[in-house]
Amino acid sequence: MNSTHEVFNQPTPLVDYNLFDTHRPLRDALKFNAPALQTTQLHELGATLGSAAMQTHARLANTHTPQLHTHDRFGRRIDEVEFHPSYHALMQTAVGAGLHGTPWTGLSASPHVLRAAGFMLFTELEPSILCPISMTYAVTPALRGNAGVHADWGPKLASLWYDPALKPLHDKPGVTMGMGMTEKQGGSDVRANTTQAVREGSDAWGERYAVTGHKWFFSAPMCDAFLILAQAPAGLSCFFLPRVRPDGSRNAIHIQRLKDKLGNKANASSEVEFQRASAWLVGEEGRGIPQILEMGTMTRLDCSLGTSGLMRQALGIALNHTAQRHAFGKPLVEQPLMKNVLADLALESEAATALAIRLARAFDQQGAEHERLMARLLTPVAKFWICKRGSHFAQEAMECLGGNGYVEEGGEGVMARIYREMPLNSIWEGAGNIMALDLLRGLRKGDAVAALVHELAPARGQQAALDRLADALPARIEAMASEAEARRLAQDVALAVQAALLVQTAPAAVADAFCASRLGGDWGQAFGTLGAGTDFDSIIQRAQPR
Ligand SMILES: Cc1cc2nc3c(=O)[nH]c(=O)nc-3n(C[C@H](O)[C@H](O)[C@H](O)COP(=O)(O)OP(=O)(O)OC[C@H]3O[C@@H](n4cnc5c(N)ncnc54)[C@H](O)[C@@H]3O)c2cc1C
Repeated sequence: MNSTHEVFNQPTPLVDYNLFDTHRPLRDALKFNAPALQTTQLHELGATLGSAAMQTHARLANTHTPQLHTHDRFGRRIDEVEFHPSYHALMQTAVGAGLHGTPWTGLSASPHVLRAAGFMLFTELEPSILCPISMTYAVTPALRGNAGVHADWGPKLASLWYDPALKPLHDKPGVTMGMGMTEKQGGSDVRANTTQAVREGSDAWGERYAVTGHKWFFSAPMCDAFLILAQAPAGLSCFFLPRVRPDGSRNAIHIQRLKDKLGNKANASSEVEFQRASAWLVGEEGRGIPQILEMGTMTRLDCSLGTSGLMRQALGIALNHTAQRHAFGKPLVEQPLMKNVLADLALESEAATALAIRLARAFDQQGAEHERLMARLLTPVAKFWICKRGSHFAQEAMECLGGNGYVEEGGEGVMARIYREMPLNSIWEGAGNIMALDLLRGLRKGDAVAALVHELAPARGQQAALDRLADALPARIEAMASEAEARRLAQDVALAVQAALLVQTAPAAVADAFCASRLGGDWGQAFGTLGAGTDFDSIIQRAQPR
């Protein structure tokens, strides 16, 4: 009681719970995609990430944003970004959990699925520090294009030590990496890059070049090295660019300023210039785009995982709030129309989780032709559709909290942070249109259409709406005449695969409602428009975070 009124009917926050144990849809997706997976590690990580201490780190890292120091007080360039200690605590936890590189060591079964689940859980705590974690995970396939660099850097990219200091490689127990493609004149169309690479000689890391130019977006500039694109005599090429040269001197990477972003506040995203910076060729000269896209494929997987994690976080907060908040005589979660909203969000969240984890499985099984084709097709499909749904989802989850959802309160208002973060996964690593167009390219590879039919086959005969869509897709793909139809196709492939997964992994209440709404037309244009016959209670019960 305070002097003017009693504070009541205000929920307690969702804290000190196990993010993994309480995530039924994720656990079911893991059982389906990696039945023999050992989940002890995820159980432990889930407890850590749900703790009050880690939530405090997430808040502090987002409210005390990175600061750029271009020069020291004597006027010497230093190009350092200073982070709050909570940023480093989060990075330490993510690296310690192996979210940045362990799948490439091949030490566990289903390593990409295991890491994908951990990455998804971490996103529920804090997504922006995962930018360098994701890029470090993603770089290995592309970096193999330079055997010398990969031999020296590979083990440290997978090390569980986080060392933020700027030091030569041999003094560092672990390293992180970023990427630089986007320039002022073009991000989607990187063929427009003007940064120039001039050959200087060769050494233990292969062909060495001097790189001059800029990057308009260059996230996590405190990483130890980057893959970048630059124009060489044979065309656009991929280069390895360390911050410290092998002789211990600082490379000529000059941070111009940090971006003032809508969200993603804990992560520094910079603009940089290179002044004859030393860089080593990765792959062949002139083949830079396919080379660096081996990295882009993995970061696109992470966009799908990340948005699925953010959806789950927003849903958990909405469920926690509506279970405690009363209006018009009962908890909000018991109001029929709120049940419809929450159940609809739960369906979307589970479908995103199912698709993202399915995609991760494809990277564990690249020896199989079907999985190679699934990785090729489902990477753009999942990135397009899951990330496209994110912002709409966050807005509706926020509204479940009423006015409290819109309030930041020094970073305590996590829903506002989620809302600001959501659009990003849809924009970076190839925006929505680029993903939809990439699907069209993927469908021309191998027997992609047959692979899609094969993927849907186990779910046939159980949902009439899914059968109709699965029957129609091959002919639609065949008849596709214009790029203008690419988004609709990407959406429908995503919905078909999501429905097929839910039919196989989720209770009937979830699969029935998903198919009836998303495929059968029994749905409106906002969340909360499921048909009245939906089993709302079962869907909500399954999604409860505690
Ligand atoms: C916070 C943040 C951090 C980032 N960090 C990095 C980083 O570390 N490294 C890096 O390299 N980049 C980074 N980026 C850049 C990001 O990847 C690009 O912004 C993105 O790829 C889009 O490129 P663009 O901004 O040049 O937009 P454009 O290429 O101009 O695209 C604008 C719009 O046009 C659409 N479009 C483009 N071509 C077509 C077409 N043929 N048909 C139909 N539509 C089309 C796109 O989908 C998009 O919606 C970052 C961006 C952000 C916001």
